[in-house]
Amino acid sequence: MKRLDCAIIGAGPAGLEAAVNLKIREKSFALFGKRTLSDKISLAPVVENYLGLPGVTGRELAAFMSRHVAGMDIEIVEKHISMVYGMGGYFSLATSDETFEAGTVILATGAFSTSHIKGEPEFLGRGVSYCATCDAPLYRGKTVAVLAYSEDAALETEFLAGVAGKVYYIPGGKNTAKTSHPAIEAISGKALEILGGNRVNALRLDSQGLRVDGVFILRDTVAPASLVPGLELIDGFIKVDAMMRTNITGLFAAGDCTGKPHQYMRAAGQGQVAALAAVEYMQQTEKTMRKDN
Ligand code: FAD
Repeated sequence: MKRLDCAIIGAGPAGLEAAVNLKIREKSFALFGKRTLSDKISLAPVVENYLGLPGVTGRELAAFMSRHVAGMDIEIVEKHISMVYGMGGYFSLATSDETFEAGTVILATGAFSTSHIKGEPEFLGRGVSYCATCDAPLYRGKTVAVLAYSEDAALETEFLAGVAGKVYYIPGGKNTAKTSHPAIEAISGKALEILGGNRVNALRLDSQGLRVDGVFILRDTVAPASLVPGLELIDGFIKVDAMMRTNITGLFAAGDCTGKPHQYMRAAGQGQVAALAAVEYMQQTEKTMRKDN
């Protein structure tokens, strides 16, 4: 597997600006997100505070940004990253069907909604998982439920069904994708509570109760600390220094995920700083390796 110089997670203003700067510095990188960009960019009816573009609409701004990255041959990899592991000197990133390796990572995942299902934080790591690719082997032959809120959750559920004995697939949010594996039973209902003792043993929906050994919760946005184990936060936002460095060496963060104010230009500016800091880190790492050899 070819190791990238950098992986950028999130195609909003922060991730896009980071990508533009890495491209100019001729670094190899993957930008993970949606080709339609962050929904938030296009939501603003009118934007008065974007320097040089007074009165631009969110949709127009999204079109300008799309054109900018496309014009620089920056491809957006349409995959959701469910887990980032520090491997000592590089990072491994898991999607529903593939793993990527990168020397550095820039988290540009946007603001995270702190609302969760009752029992979710208590049972995290004890039957609650956010990553089917990572944790499926723990449920070989067992019964699990998938709360499928993200668009690619169906794909991840099919992978899980190849390992687990039985999978309840419960689509929610904007996700309407269907699954076809014989081990999957699609159910409609709203998840109310995850129950158990030492580990998860049941899921309560508004329509019925299910006996399960595990609950996979697949959302478009995963809480930063769940995405990267060991990541330090302040009030739910990623702790960064002025160079957008996190507490994990080689891992940077930019934009709304680092705190308020939630604004386009702040996000883009931080994306630029994160990219330049990542380049500096790559150069230092290369120098150290040359010295050691
Ligand atoms: P986002 O734009 O939220 O982008 C993050 C992206 O990362 C998302 O697409 C998300 O799906 C993706 N992502 C998250 N996790 C993963 C993962 N694990 N794998 C892959 N992708 C992932 N700001 C202004 O300055 N002026 C305004 O007038 C203004 N108006 C606004 C109006 C509305 C209605 C809203 C909602 C916001 C407005 N904002 C405005 C705020 C602005 O939209 C945000 O500050 C900005 O979009 C933040 O950029 P970001 O790149 O940090 O995050």
